[in-house]
Amino acid sequence: MSRKLVTYPEEILSRKAVPVDVIDDAIRELVRDMAEIMYENRGIGLAAPQVGEGLRVIIVDLSGPEKRENLMVLVNPEITDFQGECDSEEGCLSVTGYQSVVKRAEKIQVRALDLDGNEVFLDAENLLSTCLQHEIDHLDGVLFIDRISRLKRKFYDKRLARWLSKKD
Ligand SMILES: [Zn+2]
Repeated sequence: MSRKLVTYPEEILSRKAVPVDVIDDAIRELVRDMAEIMYENRGIGLAAPQVGEGLRVIIVDLSGPEKRENLMVLVNPEITDFQGECDSEEGCLSVTGYQSVVKRAEKIQVRALDLDGNEVFLDAENLLSTCLQHEIDHLDGVLFIDRISRLKRKFYDKRLARWLSKKD
């Protein structure tokens, strides 16, 4: 597998991803790579831009990297309804060493295609809802650190700059 996890501040993470036209073997291979990378890094969700592909594909598995029981693949997902508001404690595989509380909608409705090209509709709440919002944000070039206060963001960028300068 040549794909690998992309981390902030790489440019593709802030770019809008394009819709998938045809679900073919290349897309199925992308999804396999994404799942491998997500489980390896102990994540519960991943979006294609996080492996360097600017396509509207996300995966979620709330059962976690040990169980791997409930992999959900959504192609061209769209949030069609938002309800309520909640505080969501989030981190991101592409944002190293940082977590913060983000405001999210409490419940959402999503429309997408599955890997067979069938249209799927789902109602999500709790962790599934916030996780889907986080992953769909990635498709619009938005990271959870784009949704925190300016002060917190400054603090994170400073810390990251210090960390990156030590690394080389
Ligand atoms: Zn993320």
